[in-house]
Amino acid sequence: MPVKQPRPDELEPIEKASRDEVAALQLERLRWSVRHTWDNVPAYRAKCEAQQVHPDDLKTLADLSRFPFMTKQDLRDNYPFGLFAVPREQVVRLHASSGTTGKSIVVGYTKQDIDNWAALVARSLRAAGVRAGDMVHNAYGYGMFTGGLGAHYGIERLGCTVVPMSGGQTEKQIQQIIDFRPDAIMVTPSYSLVIAEEFQRQGIAPEDISLKVGIFGAEPWGEGMRAEIEKKLGIDAVDIYGLTEVMGPGVASECIESKDGPVIWEDHFYPEIIDPDTGEVLPDGSLGELVFTSLTKEAFPVIRYRTRDLTRLLPPTSRAFRRLSKITGRTDDMLIVRGVNVFPSQLEEQIMRIPHLSGNYQIHLTRDGHLDNMELRCELQHSLSGQMSEAEVQHVSKELQHHVKTIVGISTKVTVLDADALPRTLTGKARRVFDERPRQV
Ligand code: ADP
Repeated sequence: MPVKQPRPDELEPIEKASRDEVAALQLERLRWSVRHTWDNVPAYRAKCEAQQVHPDDLKTLADLSRFPFMTKQDLRDNYPFGLFAVPREQVVRLHASSGTTGKSIVVGYTKQDIDNWAALVARSLRAAGVRAGDMVHNAYGYGMFTGGLGAHYGIERLGCTVVPMSGGQTEKQIQQIIDFRPDAIMVTPSYSLVIAEEFQRQGIAPEDISLKVGIFGAEPWGEGMRAEIEKKLGIDAVDIYGLTEVMGPGVASECIESKDGPVIWEDHFYPEIIDPDTGEVLPDGSLGELVFTSLTKEAFPVIRYRTRDLTRLLPPTSRAFRRLSKITGRTDDMLIVRGVNVFPSQLEEQIMRIPHLSGNYQIHLTRDGHLDNMELRCELQHSLSGQMSEAEVQHVSKELQHHVKTIVGISTKVTVLDADALPRTLTGKARRVFDERPRQV
């Protein structure tokens, strides 16, 4: 069943404004945000003073490049509340990062911040074709993680019925989807495959599942994974991006009519792409590290926050705002294997080229003497598991080995396992990399 695209009159005026109008609003809000941070966050002010810049220096958007970056280290150094720009009594909610990398960090929101966040998630849902009156199954984890509550408030804001399921309890998830017949689902891509497999196991065909669209984010996923999810659940799959430090889910989100990368909600966040080594701002279209400045946040403003996510800024298409290309990975999840730089997303792309394999995989790294060894553990699709001869399985494994060698440039061992052999993540982000190499000192 096709999902609806927003009619032009359903869009907010700024979503269809000219680039000049967007830039004018951004400059006005940027000035406010930098001034607000300078006035209320002594640690950031000290950084500006050390770099001899002042909020009054912001005459154009490009002047922002003179200002210092904020990094995850700044958040850790000022843990828990040192970067808050309002008195703690005005903070109505705290969240923490899920701690994929290192110690967790804490962020806060005023009532207005929560209101803006809900509005942006509602806008993201509408971009995905969801409408007031639809029912949305929310399988993002609730709690300190921004996914669950962030999605929840946006779903309600749009006027939808929210099913606040959270992650885990897969059989219960399936039962509720069957019984309640939701129109849309919000979940991590890796967990959506767990749900899809459970449907398969219960013999429920994609066309018998009520879901029409899924809004997936919180972890990297490629086009191959999109095709897999769409096929297995019989839905359209769109990409939502966000991070705790900048807000949570809904910093950027994809339009169903174009599916060409998450649109950055540029009226609330100003993006830059920088060279991760030099910090220099790169022109649109270049691959580099994504940096965000919040334009409206009160409790936890970020100025030039280095996300460590690697991507490109793409020109506007379906909305007035620029888009992100698929996140290639994080600067800190790049693996160096026998001297070759590789991101898990590159390996995923090769796995997804082979129709026999499912989207569940693990990358294991070990070291023999001075030599790195990489093993890819993959799983057969449910429908093929137990149906293939050993020689056929060998063939699949050789094919993947060949693709990884010729395209990524690394020799790897490939182990093809039966469906369900790898442990599933029940609450959120998949753990893909198991690096057991001794640390170099
Ligand atoms: P943590 O940093 O502990 O994982 P977050 O939950 O804040 O905590 O995760 C935000 C990160 O998740 C982003 O910086 C990005 O790396 C990843 N992420 C979020 N959404 C997407 C997406 N749609 N595509 C790729 N990566 C994403």
